[in-house]
Amino acid sequence: MEMEKLVETISKQSGKGAEDVKKLISDKQTELSGLVSEEGAAYIVGRELGCSLLKDTAKELKVKNLVAGMRSVDITVKVTEIQEPRTFNKNGKEGKVQNLIVGDETGTARFSFWNDELDRIKEIKAGDVLKLTRGYAKLDYRGSPELRLGKGSLEKSEEKIEVTESRPAQGGQGTGSFSAAGRTTIDKIKEGDFPEIRACMIQIFRRKKPFYEVCPECGKRAYEKEGKFTCKDHGEVTPAYSMVVSGVLDDGTGNIRAVFFRDIAEKLFDKTTKELKDIAQKEMNAEVIYEHFSVLGKEFIFRGRVKRNDMTESIEMTVNDIQEIDVKKEAEDIISGLEKA
Ligand SMILES: [Zn+2]
Repeated sequence: MEMEKLVETISKQSGKGAEDVKKLISDKQTELSGLVSEEGAAYIVGRELGCSLLKDTAKELKVKNLVAGMRSVDITVKVTEIQEPRTFNKNGKEGKVQNLIVGDETGTARFSFWNDELDRIKEIKAGDVLKLTRGYAKLDYRGSPELRLGKGSLEKSEEKIEVTESRPAQGGQGTGSFSAAGRTTIDKIKEGDFPEIRACMIQIFRRKKPFYEVCPECGKRAYEKEGKFTCKDHGEVTPAYSMVVSGVLDDGTGNIRAVFFRDIAEKLFDKTTKELKDIAQKEMNAEVIYEHFSVLGKEFIFRGRVKRNDMTESIEMTVNDIQEIDVKKEAEDIISGLEKA
């Protein structure tokens, strides 16, 4: 984003005047002794004021980038097929399910509706374009991600979409499937991707502040203001703590910066935030926690979202799932995927 646009967006979202925002940005640049560009400083200021500056520039999610487990899925897709509703019996209760096949130029996926949700697609015809907001993606029985509505919203869209047929059951082809076939390599990763890679963590960056304050209610970041912590949704709170780890992943084809938050960071350390915080407190030095980090050089499967880091200007993967390599399970996944297909 251009500087003017950045200032305007920050000003609009924060309610501060443009001149005030410009001053905050130049103060921030001074504070960081010129280590960041003007844009970089603007992004930092924006973040500190709770603005979302990346929304406008964020790439649209495409079908091939769906990953099971993704929350808050916003996607626009065209309906290519409407399957018959089915009823089933679960624990003596009757349920209904109806599937649509939807797609875009990158592939197709199943969009599954359950029980009362079936009313939402009564009027839908093949060829309609649907805009899903804040839906989610779940692993279907074939090991492919399928779309779900959940508490999200669904509306018709006038957007024109060309659909490329794909067969998500057969190995993924980069569809974010959980089998080895859906995997990609670091050299092919681009901004906006949701890749799954098998890689080693080759470096960890020591942070002076690996812990940060969160709202105990919702787990979102709590921001300090005059010595008090507030959550955007829950007001003033006594903060709990969460953790962030960043480092470099390498898979032989290249390397990429990666960031791990909360439970994912805990998984990487194989220790809870509380355990690590206790260690740091005992030594009165947060950086000692890195001595308890023992997975450098160990291989994992990582899944996450790739975006541009505003400060370093290079791409970075925010990992939201991490799994140890289990050769036997990997083989079984592929086999059971074939049997069910
Ligand atoms: Zn909260």
